[in-house]
Amino acid sequence: MKELNHSKSEELFKEALKYIPGGVNSPVRAFKSVGLNPIFVDSGKGPKVKDVDGNEYIDYICSWGPLLLGHSNSELLEGILDTINKGTSFGIPTEIEVKMAKLIVEASPSVDMVRMVNSGTEATMSALRVARGYTNRNKIVKFEGCYHGHSDALLVKSGSGTITFGVPTSPGVPEDTVKDTLVCTYNDMDSVKEVFQKYGKEIAAVIVEPVGGNMGVVPGKKEFLKGLRDITIKYGSVLIFDEVITGFRLAFGGAQEVYGIQPDMTCFGKIIGAGLPVGAYGGKREIMEMVSPVGPVYQAGTLSGNPLAMHMGYKNLSILKNNKNIYDELEKKAIKIEKGINENIEKLGINATVVRFKAMLCLFFAKGPFENFKDVMKCDTEKYAIYFREMLKRGILLAPAQFEAMFLSMAHGDEEIEYTIKCNYEALKIAFEK
Ligand SMILES: *Cc1c(COP(=O)(O)O)cnc(C)c1O
Repeated sequence: MKELNHSKSEELFKEALKYIPGGVNSPVRAFKSVGLNPIFVDSGKGPKVKDVDGNEYIDYICSWGPLLLGHSNSELLEGILDTINKGTSFGIPTEIEVKMAKLIVEASPSVDMVRMVNSGTEATMSALRVARGYTNRNKIVKFEGCYHGHSDALLVKSGSGTITFGVPTSPGVPEDTVKDTLVCTYNDMDSVKEVFQKYGKEIAAVIVEPVGGNMGVVPGKKEFLKGLRDITIKYGSVLIFDEVITGFRLAFGGAQEVYGIQPDMTCFGKIIGAGLPVGAYGGKREIMEMVSPVGPVYQAGTLSGNPLAMHMGYKNLSILKNNKNIYDELEKKAIKIEKGINENIEKLGINATVVRFKAMLCLFFAKGPFENFKDVMKCDTEKYAIYFREMLKRGILLAPAQFEAMFLSMAHGDEEIEYTIKCNYEALKIAFEK
């Protein structure tokens, strides 16, 4: 197999290292955990991206989720120039913000009102503030392996003791900031009950990814999510679904529609911006009316509800709304990949596992089951790195880390999927020979 030429990317990376920490604006882009330097992208079209050296790849990063319709979808981009020409930001209300909010509310069974922000991080951070203001309590519960952005209170892992006080996962996060963050085990209701027995009356909120998408893909069990719903009702705590990945991906109504469970608040991001910087949080009217200027909880944003971002997001959600068969088709594509990779795993007799939930997929380099963070930590990340590099050589761009989802789009057709499965066989073979 011929090595690809990455000379322009290497040059840009060298330059980037001088001016940007690690040469990248978000850590996972550094390709560190797969032992490479990043490729620099020139452009994307449909299921593919082209790098600055002219190499083409079938893309399974897809901007980490927003691009459900693939790169530069022409229907999506229609009208964007007219919108730009009308002005890029006003800081005064625009009609498209109202249309966007209405569409999100209509789509999401549990959301009566919604506030736009600029990222998923802002959405979760703000939702927690509102939940704390609403309940007049301080403690929050999160789950190990769930990612909710990089705000201080959420950058925690479980401590070494049996219970559950978080310790910061990053320098710069004061212990005081996370002292009210309790960390439980995903899919383990007992760990949640224990915490509620002790602190129930102090717990403002439980925040959870209904399908874990940041430790590979680990679906929440229905009994677990139902258990969270019941216990938060019992103790008067706010249940927050972080649907930044799952929202508008699993179904038009997100995970809450698929599971038939209604949280009190929901966070969105990624797909609702179609590649522009957008997040949103919403929920029951009574809770959302805590937000300034109706209520006392302060939350604001100079660029929140930005007209370009709203235009793209609204367009994206409208296309999904008018073509709900998209969700079946996406799932069919995911099933096809799952089946192909499973056949490869069987032929090779190796310890690897595909986990799929709807159109969310992950290939773990270990034998399952995978129900929580500890389970996924069994994976052989060195083998994943070899696999990643072999796939890249063959023109397939996967997430440059084991513990990420494989992001599919509507633009990934049979041809790309069949080629992916063929390459998967070759790359797995090499990874497991070494
Ligand atoms: C990506 C992600 C976030 C953070 O969103 P940003 O836009 O990167 O700040 C929060 N929650 C989940 C579940 C995510 O996947």
